[in-house]
Amino acid sequence: MAKRRSDVEEQVADLLRTAKSSLGLSLAFLTRMDGTTQHLEVVESSIPFLIRDGVTQRQETTFCQAIMDGKLPAVIPDVKAFPEAMKLPAARIPRIRSFVSVPVVLSDGNVYGTFCAAGFTSDKGLAKRDKSLMEVLAHAASVIIEPGVRERGRRSEIESRLNLVLANGGPAVVLQPIVDLATGGRIGAEALSRFPSEWRKAPDVCFAEAHSVDVGDRLEILALARAAEHLKRVSGYVAMNVSSATLLTRECTELLGRLPLERILLELSEHDPVEDYDALTTVLAPLRAGGMRLAIDDVGAGFSSLRHIVLTSPDVIKLDRSIVDGVSTDPILTTLVRSLVEFGHGCDARVVAEGVETGEDAAALRSLGVDYGQGWHFGRPGAPEELTECVPAAAATPPVRDEPSVPGM
Ligand code: C2E
Ligand code: CA
Ligand code: CA
Repeated sequence: MAKRRSDVEEQVADLLRTAKSSLGLSLAFLTRMDGTTQHLEVVESSIPFLIRDGVTQRQETTFCQAIMDGKLPAVIPDVKAFPEAMKLPAARIPRIRSFVSVPVVLSDGNVYGTFCAAGFTSDKGLAKRDKSLMEVLAHAASVIIEPGVRERGRRSEIESRLNLVLANGGPAVVLQPIVDLATGGRIGAEALSRFPSEWRKAPDVCFAEAHSVDVGDRLEILALARAAEHLKRVSGYVAMNVSSATLLTRECTELLGRLPLERILLELSEHDPVEDYDALTTVLAPLRAGGMRLAIDDVGAGFSSLRHIVLTSPDVIKLDRSIVDGVSTDPILTTLVRSLVEFGHGCDARVVAEGVETGEDAAALRSLGVDYGQGWHFGRPGAPEELTECVPAAAATPPVRDEPSVPGM
């Protein structure tokens, strides 16, 4: 059975019907030329069973290619008058006798394919004016198909890049120290994914791209597994980032369920929309009962308000870099951080400031009651071997146990 046409194909079919009836020919079609094959993508025919959507032929033996190469004119009222045309397969089956073909050119100048009309009898009336009409219709077709062409190109570029990373078992994962602001001692580390540097893309961009081509969950889970591998190399807790969408997958909860939960702090971003808080709470409940802690990340970045915090009662809130950087000199940031600390502590959560780049900011944060700090001032993300030993946690910090190995890994 013929495949149902998409909306775009229906719109192109409309243009083809206009071409067919205006030129009084039996057949009109849009083709895509990929260099070796011509694909008849949308075909409007008075004899529907002869040629239909999806037919392909070798590009080099088509009328369209001969026209593009200048071996035949764009308007052929009588195919028999052109020996070059008579040699081509379409002159025998389906016995094309009149033909018009113009290129479909995308806005970047690339030729997508051709917009054609054909007849099974010669038609001396075909003229230059018909070519002009075909060019207008071909242009309209190019405008209609362009967004889809771009989207397919975007997807395949992302897929081919990400496939390499997926085949390698996921991104590399580095660790950045998190320290107790009161003692300066390290208490944990955040796992951060790293993609090939030549991509020049931040990890959050790579994960967003992965989700846009439906491999986001797989990629996030591989990153979590990589982060979990570090547990046996370092002391203290390891904070792991996950989107709420991925967290809701069975693969993710199964993976987390195999880990030493009391050493894991799961970070959910404030800007990651949560569609179903009940589902999230249900998935988190057994993990949290098993000792896993929950952090709301990027608080103060101004995304989804404080709803995440209210609805998930996290163990930790992480203040976003945008409200941390410069806190020592900015009275507004000082007030904001002080209020968020009071709010966090009031919710029984510890407060981590991230993006701490200077000693002045670190001191200001400490005096504002922020519990922990993370940022270049304390250490850049790096290999697990670069981390210092953890110091025993202060009274207010959650228990941190040394785990010699990760079960099930
Ligand atoms: P995030 O979770 O907010 O991570 C903190 C980001 O701040 C990291 O960026 C880190 O390298 C950067 N950073 C740390 N200290 C400083 C500092 O002092 N100054 C400045 N300017 N930046 C600092 P990174 O590694 O580029 O990651 C960006 C985002 O990508 C992360 O933001 C997180 O949302 C996402 N991400 C990274 N790894 C993963 C992962 O494995 N899974 C998921 N789901 N998301 C990840
Ligand atoms: Ca984070
Ligand atoms: Ca963050």
